[in-house]
Amino acid sequence: MYKIAVAGTGYVGLVAGVSFAEMGHQVTCVDIDEVKVESMKQGKSPIYEKDLEGLMQKNYALGHIDYTTNYLEAYRDADAIFIGVGTPEQQDGSANLSYIATVARQIAESVEKDCLVVVKSTVPVGTNDKVEQFIQDFLINDVRVEVASNPEFLAQGSAVHDTLYAERVIIGTESKWAENILMEIYEPFNLPVVSVNRRSAEMIKYASNDFLALKISYMNDIANLCELVGADIQDVARGMSFDERIGSKFLNAGIGYGGSCFPKDTKALDYIAQQNGYELKTVRAAIDVNKNQKSMLYKKARKRLITFEGLKVAVLGLTFKPGTDDLREAASLENVPLLLDQGADIYAFDPVGKDNFSKVYPEGHHGKGYVTYVDSIEDALKDANVCFIFTEWGEVRAITPEDYSNLMRTPLVFDGRNIYSVEKMTSANVEYHSIGRRTAERNNLGGVKFDELQTSRS
Ligand code: NAD
Repeated sequence: MYKIAVAGTGYVGLVAGVSFAEMGHQVTCVDIDEVKVESMKQGKSPIYEKDLEGLMQKNYALGHIDYTTNYLEAYRDADAIFIGVGTPEQQDGSANLSYIATVARQIAESVEKDCLVVVKSTVPVGTNDKVEQFIQDFLINDVRVEVASNPEFLAQGSAVHDTLYAERVIIGTESKWAENILMEIYEPFNLPVVSVNRRSAEMIKYASNDFLALKISYMNDIANLCELVGADIQDVARGMSFDERIGSKFLNAGIGYGGSCFPKDTKALDYIAQQNGYELKTVRAAIDVNKNQKSMLYKKARKRLITFEGLKVAVLGLTFKPGTDDLREAASLENVPLLLDQGADIYAFDPVGKDNFSKVYPEGHHGKGYVTYVDSIEDALKDANVCFIFTEWGEVRAITPEDYSNLMRTPLVFDGRNIYSVEKMTSANVEYHSIGRRTAERNNLGGVKFDELQTSRS
């Protein structure tokens, strides 16, 4: 059993802390946010993540985990300190390492015994070396402190499962001492461990994330071409998926990737390449394709309608993906302002994302447009003229094609997640536009009269 401190209680830090506690280690989670710490002590998770609260409550009751803002107490006699604070994108695309630097300084001023500092945050290659030097420079007590890299691969929405049953654990160390400590900490998880040097570990994280981003952008690029040549991206993806070299995951076309990782990690690696005099053309292409894809649905709708003024627009899904209340780089944040600028009267539904979204767009007037939040999809769709689907929540998938035609005034649906079959939507008299597939309009399958809508300019 190790005495572990975790800096930062976001998606990575809190889930790591709870998972270490679940495996029998003694954990103290540190955050600078007093409100968060108080609510975690009450068993409330600051983030929406399946199974997290249950494990927090169980391990708190067992005395395996505690939460504090007092970093000195937490770091002083820890065997290992995991850093899981944010590394957000800066204006130039590089990663902001100021939160890491603050924690490193706090560690240097606190530790009173030998300890391993483990960077879980996603950081540019070479950062661990700098963190180690930085800590040595400010170290107050005569103790051994080494830094190791242990990048995190969890996906939001399944973070607890992804951590407890990770496909692999990457550890990057520069000494046997550091490697042994991490091996022992992860031993109870019984997972495959890949042990490499620190810089390789840092690179594995970026290379993995950017590969996935590239895969998504590639499929979105092909989807856009499918529309032009009359192919169907879902059929194309299914055909591709049988090839084991390609794999069946991450082949879904849509309105681009969002979230706290892919957008910033692609830009950060592109920046690292530039700093090293190298042009990372593939990653740059993924970034460019994604930028265009984010507003693809809106562009389609603008081709179909002259204006959104006076139209009731149902927006289904606000978070960047299902299973999380995180809005970072969500498609909704890109498209809702465009719709509001065009005077849309938006009725937004999301099972968990409304509170966060309403901090950015409070209910009420926004220029020519208006935002109302509703608790049911039916309320969003009732008498609506247009519907946009931005997140494929189970609740949204449960809505049938007939529901759209029965509830909406004019059943015109723009689906950024390709949830429905084109045929079924068409048979239910819904005019259905999705990504990389034929539309009712294009193949004259519609048959719906949209007298009240301003139709295409063309
Ligand atoms: P987050 O923004 O959700 O959480 C960061 C937390 O750190 C916040 O609660 C903040 O209050 C706290 N914090 C800031 N300064 C602190 C300090 N000095 N001491 C203690 N706490 C402090 O971040 P996140 O999404 O968990 O991401 C953290 C890192 O992990 C990033 O580098 C990210 O790229 C990486 N990562 C994230 C994911 C993900 O899905 N979110 C997955 C893999 C890797």
